[in-house]
Amino acid sequence: MAEQDLYDVLGVKKDASEAEIKRAYRKLAAKYHPDVNHEAGAEEKFKKINEAYETLSDEQKRAQYDQYGSAGPQAGFGGQGGFGQGGFSQGGFGDFSDIFGDLFGGGRARRDPSAPRQGRDLQYTMTLDFMDAIFGKETTIKYNRSAECDTCHGSGVKPGKSAHTCSTCHGQGYVLRQRQTMMGVMQSQEVCPTCGGKGQVIDPADQCDTCHGAGVVDERHELKVKVPQGIDDGQQMRLQGQGEAGQNGGPYGDLYIIFKVTPSREFKRDGDTINVDQDISISQAALGDHIQAKTVHGDVDLKIPAGTQSETRFRLRGKGVPRINGNGNGDEYVTIHVKTPKNLNKRQREAMLAFAAASGEDVKGVKPGFFDRLKDAFEEK
Ligand SMILES: [Zn+2]
Ligand SMILES: [Zn+2]
Repeated sequence: MAEQDLYDVLGVKKDASEAEIKRAYRKLAAKYHPDVNHEAGAEEKFKKINEAYETLSDEQKRAQYDQYGSAGPQAGFGGQGGFGQGGFSQGGFGDFSDIFGDLFGGGRARRDPSAPRQGRDLQYTMTLDFMDAIFGKETTIKYNRSAECDTCHGSGVKPGKSAHTCSTCHGQGYVLRQRQTMMGVMQSQEVCPTCGGKGQVIDPADQCDTCHGAGVVDERHELKVKVPQGIDDGQQMRLQGQGEAGQNGGPYGDLYIIFKVTPSREFKRDGDTINVDQDISISQAALGDHIQAKTVHGDVDLKIPAGTQSETRFRLRGKGVPRINGNGNGDEYVTIHVKTPKNLNKRQREAMLAFAAASGEDVKGVKPGFFDRLKDAFEEK
């Protein structure tokens, strides 16, 4: 049979002070003393109370009990001699298996099952248009999550009713299971099958009608989200308290929104920098011109100086992505591509020849053949 937790025997918390333990012991000892209490089992209870107090009132024994779940050789063993009731597997070996039970049973995590616990965090992937990521937007998202039951506010019980301590695990939330192995009796810790680890049970008749005792309900949660400006692909944002409901009155978990940004055809983004490509003609490159350069903030005038070479990069200061911290904008870089004209008409051809002659070049030109035209047709975008 699983041994009852000594703190439970005295009805105190695991972190109870010496004075609290003493007070609890005196109260219980007075109640169950065999001289005053003649109920069945009172004497047994009185013995247990004394045993518990003996361990928990002794600093060293208590520390050992906290660590190993036992305060040394079982009470009474020394007085009964080596071969007491259970032979050698009692006493010393009992401790031995307790220690191994702890090692193999995942440790005796004596956390209070009724302590408030935060709910789970959730993840939501939000796909953003290229421009929305740059300038931010307000949107509403919907997702499924568990929420605290409005009717019972998470308690799981009908108004005016209450849960009671689970009689299987005495509120511990777990039970100890013993197995006989070659090394002796092994103990392992398992979630209590009666209360599912809660330590508390609600009578079916007392269960909240809305959540049927769960304390939480599934909901389709709607949430307004303000996406800040300057969000980049792969970045995430934490929204506190928008995850799942906590347990035992614990806080909600958080929601993590992970952003996926759709690429743009015109703009290439690199952090807060925007890169664009701009074609200009050979005349614009040679003579210079003013062109309209595309930016995420709208078209802006860009001066192309006379004699601009292909692949020259111009910087448009402050025409990049607004920084997420509000500290100004990044820049845009315009890369110029000088396009060589194709399929010149007669006038263009003559002008080009004249231009070559004026430059002192002896250019004769080549008349495009059928295959050149075909090639052009395939190169055309
Ligand atoms: Zn409820
Ligand atoms: Zn239980």
